[in-house]
Amino acid sequence: MAIQWFPGHMNKAKKAIIDRMKSVDMVIEVLDARLPGSSANPLLESISARKPKLKILNKRDLADDARTQLWLDYYNSQFQTQSIALDASERGNVTKVIQASRQLVPSRNGLDKPLRVLICGIPNVGKSTLINSMIGKKSAKTGNEPGITKAEQRLFLADDFWLYDTPGMLWPKIIVPEGGYNLAASGAVGRNALDEEEVSLELIKYLSKHKHYRDLLAARYKIDEDDAELDTWREETWLETIARRRGTILGGGRIDYQKASEIVLTDFRSGYMGKITLELPNEWLKWLADARVA
Ligand code: GDP
Repeated sequence: MAIQWFPGHMNKAKKAIIDRMKSVDMVIEVLDARLPGSSANPLLESISARKPKLKILNKRDLADDARTQLWLDYYNSQFQTQSIALDASERGNVTKVIQASRQLVPSRNGLDKPLRVLICGIPNVGKSTLINSMIGKKSAKTGNEPGITKAEQRLFLADDFWLYDTPGMLWPKIIVPEGGYNLAASGAVGRNALDEEEVSLELIKYLSKHKHYRDLLAARYKIDEDDAELDTWREETWLETIARRRGTILGGGRIDYQKASEIVLTDFRSGYMGKITLELPNEWLKWLADARVA
């Protein structure tokens, strides 16, 4: 799986982020709660290594609550790190974010100095929605396309709390294959970057291996075969059955796998299958270790 993310833009953004990092007290990293490991950019980790970090697990309304708790525990046990889970559209986020940040950096040489915070996140994690909900605006977004660089913004969330939006785009970085598929399933990497059928098959493979998610999948597509039968199904069988249930059949009775895949991905992205998280902290660490060995 090879995805080319315009190295020129990436380097420019990287320089700008490194530069901004020098004059902030802490970093907020917005992650997708359904794929916290995959939606983190390791570049940010290396650039911000010595800054206190608030990891926001956003889209918690779409994520599996029990798994979100495991990720919160995992991050909260790390040095200089706090983690909270949010739904960007909820009210009261600004208070939660300021409170959690204040706990991380209790004071900065007296009360007269504002807390300077850089907020980062790869596209699609909901950073703009969160910023807009915190400043109480409908939209402040310019665009995600390569070549459009958002002007850096300094936002005053409170007199003593300055939020800097990331200068440039922090692109997703695929470091393990599973992470690439999870990013694609969430919609964070472009529709054309990966084959939708492949992505939906990987998604189904993961879901069908976890009993609770397999039940959600079966319920969504009214698949009522018994467990013993479902145990024998490969992801291709699932996709074919979903296609038949949804009637994505072409002339001559051929199955339209592309259409069935789009249905599966749209249902996952919009939460119609239920609350699902595609990785656990331990799973993510194992994928990383395996990728390093390979
Ligand atoms: P950005 O690229 O990180 O700035 O992401 P956006 O703010 O544009 O959000 C990407 C998509 O996710 C949009 O369709 C948002 O409406 C949606 N979104 C953002 N935050 C949440 C959330 O907490 N829950 C849900 N369900 N959707 C969200």
